[in-house]
Amino acid sequence: TKFSELNLSPKVLKAVEEAGYETPTPIQEGAIPPALEGRDVLGIAQTGTGKTASFVLPMITQLARGRARARMPRSLVLCPTRELAAQVAENFENYAKYVKLTKALLIGGVSFKEQDQLIDRGVDVLIATPGRLLDHFERGKLLLTGVQIMVVDEADRMLDMGFIPDIERIFGLVPFTRQTLFFSATMAPEIERITNTFLSSPARVEV
Ligand code: AMP
Repeated sequence: TKFSELNLSPKVLKAVEEAGYETPTPIQEGAIPPALEGRDVLGIAQTGTGKTASFVLPMITQLARGRARARMPRSLVLCPTRELAAQVAENFENYAKYVKLTKALLIGGVSFKEQDQLIDRGVDVLIATPGRLLDHFERGKLLLTGVQIMVVDEADRMLDMGFIPDIERIFGLVPFTRQTLFFSATMAPEIERITNTFLSSPARVEV
């Protein structure tokens, strides 16, 4: 399979070509088609497999095809650590460089002020750690009712770090009708339970 056969938006495809990628990795080949069809995806993949692009590329394509909603985030990506969230944000910037989309990186260890300003201006995509996202929510800063795509990245690390209650709470704050793209390196019983509860007939892609 080639990237050009995956039905990604031409602007996303152009950014991918410029990144120098020749062929999709197995997780990309497996996850991108169902994600673009709007299906939930359960991706079982380690880091280093190209899993970030497997959710970022279809997410950008869908956002580019949709219509902006004033001041409402349409997409939410949850990551276990600040470093990982920053990496996802960097990937997003790179793949979205020909698409007009805005994002906010909501992570701890930095002041709320700058993040508040971004949220107030209105962003399409939130890339966040669970604790900081809930902090913003509790401060009344954030409305998640416009979220159409929710991504959970590295769920097994979320479990190790004790974030599963936060994740469950956040699932309750986004619309029931959203699409969920859920990634984990392993399927511990607790992860299996979460996916059974919050994913709807997911395409299961294991690499
Ligand atoms: P990830 O698993 O998302 O952390 O990605 C691991 C590395 O693979 C990153 O440096 C990506 O830039 C790179 N990468 C992702 N997709 C591809 C691809 N299709 N071809 C070559 N490199 C890729």
